Amino acid sequence: MTEPIITFEKVNKWYGNNFHVLRDIDLQVAQGERIVVCGPSGSGKSTLIRCINRLEEHQQGRLVVDGVELMDDVKAIDQVRKKVGMVFQQFNLFPHLTVLENLTLSPMWVGKLPKKEATEKALLQLERVRIAEQADKYPLQLSGGQQQRVAIARALCLTPKIMLFDEPTSALDPEMIKEVLDVIVEMAGQGITMVCVTHEMGFAKAVADRVIFMDQGQILEQNNPNDFFNHPQNERSRDFLSKIL
Ligand code: ADP
Ligand code: MG
Repeated sequence: MTEPIITFEKVNKWYGNNFHVLRDIDLQVAQGERIVVCGPSGSGKSTLIRCINRLEEHQQGRLVVDGVELMDDVKAIDQVRKKVGMVFQQFNLFPHLTVLENLTLSPMWVGKLPKKEATEKALLQLERVRIAEQADKYPLQLSGGQQQRVAIARALCLTPKIMLFDEPTSALDPEMIKEVLDVIVEMAGQGITMVCVTHEMGFAKAVADRVIFMDQGQILEQNNPNDFFNHPQNERSRDFLSKIL
């Protein structure tokens, strides 16, 4: 196997002094691999993926992302943030900027791209998520599904090597879930490394190379989607699946 793009080695994290939120996490993600993370609410899924782009810090163990070891070195963190795109449950678009401005902001100010190039790139990504005709609207004029597609396009504008998704469809009305999953599925076909927290089983079966089940800050089980969903080994994963299936 070539060098994994993400490596967790015995990673531990606490919130405050007492709350042990990640416990001895060992996880390697290969370049281009698509991982789905599931587990009960509060099990540490968001914390785990937020450590990958250093939105959260771990206190023990090693975490290496694309060759950069995440420690307190600010330079390393900036380096990693440029490679890791993230899409949140609540879209997190800037409401006072148009769709196009949301997409060009970071490439211009962080990536130092001239406006013309940033705009061309943005329009291309908006086409990719099939929403180019909304470029001049403001986020709140769009449906939730459209806003989430804009958020995905915005993340892609920085040409990340890794995309993190934190329950990207759980704030959406049911009829909008598919349009968002469809663009993620399409992206998955293009070789980008993906770590996605979701309970959308159909999606997991369609794109995941591996499903990871977390409970109480630990990875309790990991397997390919078919085996995981059809023959979960751990009692707690069985219990979890019986509630969501
Ligand atoms: P999940 O995404 O699986 O629902 P989270 O990673 O969001 O779980 O949270 C795991 C646990 O950590 C929960 O009990 C949550 O309340 C707690 N937690 C999350 N963020 C913080 C924080 N910033 N400070 C203290 N506790 C937190
Ligand atoms: Mg969460």
